[in-house]
Amino acid sequence: MSEISAPESESIDVAIVGGGLSGLVTAVRASMAGLRAIVFEKGAEERYLCASRLTGGVFHVCMMDIRTDPQKLAAIISEETGGFCSPELADLVACNALRAVTWLTRAGVRFIRGPYPHLSFMLTPPNVVRVGAAWRGRGGDSALCVLEAQLIKCGGQIRRGHRAKGLLSSPLGDCVGLEVESAQGFSQVRSSAVVLADGGFQSSVPALSRYVTPAPEKVFQRNARRSFGDALDMAEVFAPAIAGMDSFYGHVLSRLALHNEKLWPYPWLDDIVAMGIIVDGHGRRFCDEGLGGVAVANRIARLTDPLSATVICDAKMWAANARSLVIPANPYLQLLGGVVHQANDLTSLAQMADLPKDCLVRSVEAYNRSIASGSGLSLSPSRTSVGRTSASPIAHGPFYAIPACAGITYTMGGPVIDSHARMVSRAGHPIGGLYIVGAASGGIEGGPRPGYVGGLVKAAVTGLAAAEHIVATRFSLRTMPQGISSAGQP
Ligand SMILES: Cc1cc2nc3c(=O)[nH]c(=O)nc-3n(C[C@H](O)[C@H](O)[C@H](O)COP(=O)(O)OP(=O)(O)OC[C@H]3O[C@@H](n4cnc5c(N)ncnc54)[C@H](O)[C@@H]3O)c2cc1C
Repeated sequence: MSEISAPESESIDVAIVGGGLSGLVTAVRASMAGLRAIVFEKGAEERYLCASRLTGGVFHVCMMDIRTDPQKLAAIISEETGGFCSPELADLVACNALRAVTWLTRAGVRFIRGPYPHLSFMLTPPNVVRVGAAWRGRGGDSALCVLEAQLIKCGGQIRRGHRAKGLLSSPLGDCVGLEVESAQGFSQVRSSAVVLADGGFQSSVPALSRYVTPAPEKVFQRNARRSFGDALDMAEVFAPAIAGMDSFYGHVLSRLALHNEKLWPYPWLDDIVAMGIIVDGHGRRFCDEGLGGVAVANRIARLTDPLSATVICDAKMWAANARSLVIPANPYLQLLGGVVHQANDLTSLAQMADLPKDCLVRSVEAYNRSIASGSGLSLSPSRTSVGRTSASPIAHGPFYAIPACAGITYTMGGPVIDSHARMVSRAGHPIGGLYIVGAASGGIEGGPRPGYVGGLVKAAVTGLAAAEHIVATRFSLRTMPQGISSAGQP
């Protein structure tokens, strides 16, 4: 952290770090209210890659329709996160999800409705494709282009190829600007507010190994590989409260995704895991498969060897998977070059999958016995059911074994924010002038399960909250002597 010093630096209203959805929403909303906002984006390309460009584009809250009664949504957020998300932040998301989507629509972002309630708002054209991470011209890419055009129209800017490296502080301990590195060298930017929107720390090996997994190189990067936790590092000098650091949003993928670009972001194995079991390299179950794909991906990452997990299912489950909602593993995994072992008995299957046969057979038998007798909870680890998918015995040959891995999409944790997206210090008070939005922010997602609330909703809602607080603060400071206390809504 540096205090402001000569040489004289540029001075603006809002400096935003990161040009993903959360950063652009903040910038556009602040610019619409007449503030001078500049986005500093480290990507130098015209269409710099980020999660918001790669995104599947579904605006949901805990996989629920965002038009659901906000009180009910807040209760679901609290339940999904096991109480980890504070009532204040649950209300922020629940009460503003629909408003954020309405605001985006007015700004020119286009949505379509999918065939299920939680797909009531999907960025269009949809971006759930069968082969690899195609994103050009699809929903997220087009949304960012629309928002950038709005920003320019309102007098704001994006500076590509500018990486934020540090924060400036005032003698009072407020954040008053940024240090930025670009091809022209280092510069300082003074601003009334700084908004950190770097997308999380999923691609930082040191941060992943500190918080998420003993073997970061064995967790697959199901993301844009551009978010290295710079916001977390920069915020450290203001002693932030941090939360949810060990949790990430992600999915169970084919292990071959590490070598085959066609095998990510889809198909995922979450639906098969929910029907069958997942075992480690010793052929032993290591988690409750009924917690769902996000939770299972987190448990895989915590294994000593995260590349030792294998999904086991039977013929009935494999056939049922072909009817899954999102691009199913059956048949796409094999069509795209993934590995699916198949055998008529478990002993042969273990041999093919390089698993200890006695242990695998014992694991399946113990699992089958407890499911048949309805005592999944007494299994160790226990086995519950996920949603409408109930656990059933692995009984009908042929049997299948799919080498799996954890695919990390974004980290859920980070510096804790309040309901205006201001960063909260370890002492429990907001830091003046410092905001954290989108996947960089902490306190909304995580908890014991961990609970996934929704990356897009989180980005849009926190972006709006930050901008509106900055606008209100700025206008009240400017105009209070004349008796006007806050900015109007544009
Ligand atoms: C494949 C995939 C599918 C997804 N599907 C869905 C979905 O259907 N629904 C859903 O709710 N969520 C989904 N998500 C998650 C969601 O897209 C993200 O959570 C959201 O877009 C994050 O937005 P953001 O603005 O926080 O971060 P990002 O969009 O990642 O933007 C961060 C930006 O910050 C820049 N940056 C980083 N460090 C610096 C620095 N020091 N200086 C300057 N710039 C910096 C990066 O280059 C990047 O451009 C998906 C994500 C992926 C990858």
